[in-house]
Amino acid sequence: MLKRLSLFAAVGVAFALVVYASAEKPADGPKQLPVPDMKFNDVKEIAPGVFFRYSSISANDPKIPFGGSNHTWVVFKDYVVVIDANFPKEAADVIADIKKTTNKPIKYVLDTHHHGDHAYGNTIWAKEGAKIVAHKNAARLLKVSGPKQWEDAAKDRKDIKDNELKQVDISFDDKYELKDDTQHVIFMHFGHMHTPGDASAYLPKHKILCTGDACVNGAFNYMGHSNSASWIKCLDEMNKLDVDLVCPGHGKVSRKDLFALEKRYFTELRAAVKKGIDAKKSADDITSGLDFPWYKEWTGVGVVETPMNKDNVKHVYNELLGKVDHDRLGARPAPLDLGAGPNTALAGRTPERTPPLRAGFAPASARPILSA
Ligand SMILES: [Zn+2]
Repeated sequence: MLKRLSLFAAVGVAFALVVYASAEKPADGPKQLPVPDMKFNDVKEIAPGVFFRYSSISANDPKIPFGGSNHTWVVFKDYVVVIDANFPKEAADVIADIKKTTNKPIKYVLDTHHHGDHAYGNTIWAKEGAKIVAHKNAARLLKVSGPKQWEDAAKDRKDIKDNELKQVDISFDDKYELKDDTQHVIFMHFGHMHTPGDASAYLPKHKILCTGDACVNGAFNYMGHSNSASWIKCLDEMNKLDVDLVCPGHGKVSRKDLFALEKRYFTELRAAVKKGIDAKKSADDITSGLDFPWYKEWTGVGVVETPMNKDNVKHVYNELLGKVDHDRLGARPAPLDLGAGPNTALAGRTPERTPPLRAGFAPASARPILSA
């Protein structure tokens, strides 16, 4: 009996060692940064001098307040770099959190795109002395469609009403790099994903990628300003980076297998919608027939359970019918009613009624993008 017990014990120890070894030492190299276990509004140092703040969000529970975008900040030798500006109220909350981690000045804030929950806090960061950085398309969208969107959003949010839209100070094309002998951050544009002006922040030293809404963890993909075909290709590019931790725009920190989940959602959505179009089905019929059990397993929400997810099907439907002009997305009325439904995540993403992105286009009113 004793012999059998010791055999069990030996097997147990061996098993534990294997589990420990695989957790500590992945097959592909040295120790990975652990994935932090966090509650809403928690701040954790996920790598030396790199902090993540997990903002509250739920795709289907209106009792959970929408805390805007997640944030990562990086403490350099002489200054701090922050990923995403959030709404004005939340920007102030985040600044208070940053000040608990460092007394260095906040020098740069990246707007990962022009949406309100990522860019409307610019004015608050600027008062702290920070320069606002964004991809040139995000900067342009904020300039072209920002004022009207801001005005609309001010009807629902006091913090927007009480503040003013602050434009981008520094815009870039492909990338913008910040480096000293302690930290290295590269703002990168992979192409049109969630919006035409998406930027991610790559921290090569720590193998961390902060994606904004180009990659989210949960049922938080808003596709109204997206190019779904390009999004899939860009996710492949992201996946080529050496990344241990993905800090998404919304939802929990993840390993890089999150890219595959995002890609699967867009790929299967496009395939299902294409199949429906070929069978001459309407967008509504395609929507009601959609069921991706794996998606619910990932997000906890059915693939067409929320108004936003239903809108995503319509967006892809219109894309595949050639009714979406991707060059002008984000600078004209949003195709769908973003304010409807209980999804608090939609607050601040107001419909856009503004001129086109590029000169040479007819005004939006004269040239409807979506006939559906
Ligand atoms: Zn967004």
